[in-house]
Amino acid sequence: MIDRRNALKLALGSAATFAAPAILAQTPKPRTRIVFLGTKGGPRVSIGASNPANLVVVNDTPIVIDCGMGVSRQLVKAGVPIPSVKYIFISHHHSDHNLEYGNLFYNAWAAGLSTPIHSFGPKGIEAMTRDYWELNKFDVETRIEDEGRPDPRKLLIAKDITEDGVVLKTPDVTVTAFRTPHPPIVDNFAYKFEAPDGVIVFSSDTAYNPKLAEFAHGADVLVHECLYLPAVDRLVAKTKNGATLRKHLLASHTSTEDVGRIAAAAGVKTLVLSHFVPGDDPAVTDDDWTRDVKTHFSGRIVVAKDLMELQLPV
Ligand SMILES: [Zn+2]
Ligand SMILES: [Zn+2]
Repeated sequence: MIDRRNALKLALGSAATFAAPAILAQTPKPRTRIVFLGTKGGPRVSIGASNPANLVVVNDTPIVIDCGMGVSRQLVKAGVPIPSVKYIFISHHHSDHNLEYGNLFYNAWAAGLSTPIHSFGPKGIEAMTRDYWELNKFDVETRIEDEGRPDPRKLLIAKDITEDGVVLKTPDVTVTAFRTPHPPIVDNFAYKFEAPDGVIVFSSDTAYNPKLAEFAHGADVLVHECLYLPAVDRLVAKTKNGATLRKHLLASHTSTEDVGRIAAAAGVKTLVLSHFVPGDDPAVTDDDWTRDVKTHFSGRIVVAKDLMELQLPV
């Protein structure tokens, strides 16, 4: 596993020769890869990590999982043309996961989209899609008329997910939804991607849920949200509504120690920690994120960073 910047550094570093860029160009792209587009949990925008979003690419088909603020920009930074996105999955309707859903599609259209994007999410995504066109009616109709663009309303095909099970099956990938509690939200889905080079599971935001370990059993990669309790306590001590906020965070998210329990019970090969809460406390180190995970899970642990890339097979 290597991120883009380090790949570049490696290439340049090894090459007082001019061979490295050519080697890079000849390296075949992996069939299956994950790019962590935004790793900071929560809706507040900051100058640090971007809000929650992930990308899975299978045989050149880009699939976006969650559309936190900044997802369009992060895709561009990752070198993925926005109109190449084929599928969008929303885990739940907290704004840090859907705020840029409509705008991501709009940005694909603005960049020349001509083929449909299919979106999936808990109940509400179909209504949200209709409402988005109402909100942007003036601009969209002006551009269709004035610039001769195709009607985008026919290119975004949204589908509410109402129960667990397979929601998408293509020759490249099978996607299965699994409901997991994120109090007070119950319409909240973890997703499993069965790709040619391995199985990837995204936990969504979730309370500690041992059933999620059954859903993720044997996965090659589990991307799990996490909460670091000592830093949460520091955060709430500075907050006016601190006691209520702490209660919400503990009831609806999974502590690093419990993430270790889930990964161990699931027997995954690689655990990726992401959706960090708190997501922008510079005092929290990678060691802090992994220390309590390691008391239960002895496999490989990756602390995700924005734009880090993980290739499969792992
Ligand atoms: Zn979230
Ligand atoms: Zn949430």
